[in-house]
Amino acid sequence: MIPKHNSTLKEIWKLKIPPRMIIFLWRMLQNRIATVDTLRKRDWPMPSICYLCRNGEDSVQHLFNECRYTLQAKHSLFCYPHNLHLFQIDTTLLLLSKSPQAPVQTRELLAIMTFLIWRERCQRIFNEKHNNLHFQALVDQTILERDSYYARK
Ligand SMILES: [Zn+2]
Repeated sequence: MIPKHNSTLKEIWKLKIPPRMIIFLWRMLQNRIATVDTLRKRDWPMPSICYLCRNGEDSVQHLFNECRYTLQAKHSLFCYPHNLHLFQIDTTLLLLSKSPQAPVQTRELLAIMTFLIWRERCQRIFNEKHNNLHFQALVDQTILERDSYYARK
């Protein structure tokens, strides 16, 4: 699932998104973020349950490719620039794709959304945030982040 080749990973640095998001994606694409499934490999005694849907594992694969919340948001996001065919593609592959089928603007939106999903997951763990999740709020926030970053450039 996760490409390890640095030449492919370098694609991520070409995206026009805030540097803190690029650094997160760089680590995430190498499976170097502290999901519970990774911590458990180091004998961390914690149940691995998705903090977004409570119905899957806290892993890169689940959070960014399988989680119901992520899939709904991804579906809604790709309706927006009329790229619905991209919905089926694995998030990690799509982020690094150089295909004309996946324009850079689309990958930038997906990159921002991926970062925001991680931020939401962390807020749920560390700030004990329990309110209901609305995928459309995530999509709106993604577009807002992109627009405000472009406006500053
Ligand atoms: Zn989930």
